[in-house]
Amino acid sequence: MKPLVNQERLVSTFIDLAKIASPSWEEKGVIEYIKQKADTLGVECALYPCNNSYNVLIRIPGDKSYNPVLFSCHMDTVTPCENIQPIIKDNKIVSDGRTILGADDKSAIAAFLEAISLLQEHSLPHGHIEFLFSCAEEVGLFGAKGFDLSVVKAQYAFVFDSDGPVGNIIVAAPYHISMKIIIKGKAAHAGMEPEKGISAIRVLSEIIAAIPHGRIDSETTANVGIVKGGRATNIVAEEAECTLETRSRQKTRVLSVKREIERTAKTIAQKYKAKVKIESTMDYEGYTIRDNDPIVLIASNALRSIGIKPALAVSGGGSDTNIFNTHGIKAINLSSGMRQVHTTKEYIIIQDLVNVASLVVSIIQNVKH
Ligand SMILES: [Zn+2]
Repeated sequence: MKPLVNQERLVSTFIDLAKIASPSWEEKGVIEYIKQKADTLGVECALYPCNNSYNVLIRIPGDKSYNPVLFSCHMDTVTPCENIQPIIKDNKIVSDGRTILGADDKSAIAAFLEAISLLQEHSLPHGHIEFLFSCAEEVGLFGAKGFDLSVVKAQYAFVFDSDGPVGNIIVAAPYHISMKIIIKGKAAHAGMEPEKGISAIRVLSEIIAAIPHGRIDSETTANVGIVKGGRATNIVAEEAECTLETRSRQKTRVLSVKREIERTAKTIAQKYKAKVKIESTMDYEGYTIRDNDPIVLIASNALRSIGIKPALAVSGGGSDTNIFNTHGIKAINLSSGMRQVHTTKEYIIIQDLVNVASLVVSIIQNVKH
């Protein structure tokens, strides 16, 4: 396929978007930008309230000989994202080093808007297309979780929220459980009668040292991320707590690690006659898509037709892709070209940005029945 992308326009859209600060739940500026572009292009753009923000859905009706298809990315970014100054340096776009760039995930937003322009300018044939821009992804996939997917017609969702060169296709991602272990011991004067106390900190330390941690197997991990407790050195600590997570691409594994953590915590707390409270939540479910699934074949063919070799991979992280798969819309996560994300060194190679827009157009052409 001939490359159609208007690179200058695409880069300028990306730079406009990167400059709009959009920390999670504060996506208003980006929403207005997308809405205005959609109005200019004459496509339907609906806002769906989600807590204090919105998810945005663009719908473009089309030819019924194509499968309806959904493209998705998120509008929020991590911090620091105030006053982002994107700079074109050689073949890349970078920030000035004080902030992130926000290519995660504004590279995809820019590419989607470019793809819509291209469909119109070149009168390209297409089916029913939906573009979903979610809010509050970075803080827990809240936009996608809060979106009523029954308004979506598509059975396939192509999420562009992965990093590295365009061509990467994430076909599996983990289940994710968050846990909190709260230990209640007994306070006592640490100098005068320590024997009367039960140190919640000591109990918790023993638990942390005993539970599965780090890389458990090729598909499973666990990590204690936050520890709190105690009031002063002269008090035997009455309370201590830690927050942790475990992930696995196998549901049975993530559940068995959770149970092992619970069992260990209870046994150790009992040994010291401390009380233990354990909270746990399945934050999102994992997914595994077969290599020969039609959605993978569509993406792979679309990549090959623009001269890019597909590279299938598994991820240790969650994304809106997990939510779509959980709700019966088959989804894969594709690279939007972003690199070194969540750091002030974040960048995108301009050619990758162009490739994302080409890939979106190419997928649209490849979903014929
Ligand atoms: Zn992202």
